Amino acid sequence: MEAKEYTEMRNLLTGYLAEKKLRRTEERYMIFQNICSFPGHFDVCMLHQQLEDNNYHVSKATLYNTLEILVDAGLIVRHQINTKIVQYELRKLADTHLHLICTKCGAVRELRDSTLKTDVDNLKIARFTPEYCSLYIYGLCSKCKYRMQRSGR
Ligand SMILES: [Zn+2]
Ligand SMILES: [Zn+2]
Repeated sequence: MEAKEYTEMRNLLTGYLAEKKLRRTEERYMIFQNICSFPGHFDVCMLHQQLEDNNYHVSKATLYNTLEILVDAGLIVRHQINTKIVQYELRKLADTHLHLICTKCGAVRELRDSTLKTDVDNLKIARFTPEYCSLYIYGLCSKCKYRMQRSGR
């Protein structure tokens, strides 16, 4: 990510925290900075591990709380993959693709389809101003499909 993009998002976070009268703690910025280094999806465990690797110790409670703030501020999106798996992603990244989710194993694949994206961007919707769009297509990944065919179901 470019430094300029990071600075812009950081400023959005500062604006959000000020508006909501939330404390601008070093922890929140440190967590956000770490999130920006992920190239794609991540979950709470990955984030926690990365912070630990950087010798930064934060409680899971602080992590969840900060993730909620970042979702609410519109900086990251929360993907509920299935009942067990929750992943997060920078909204800037999530905006560039749609998600293919396997209903059997929860595998997520990203699909870049410019036609669909343009169609969505060009939609004229009455009495509603779109901010961003998350698209999910549910189905079977090739591995699960192969396994099912082999087991004769
Ligand atoms: Zn994604
Ligand atoms: Zn699968």
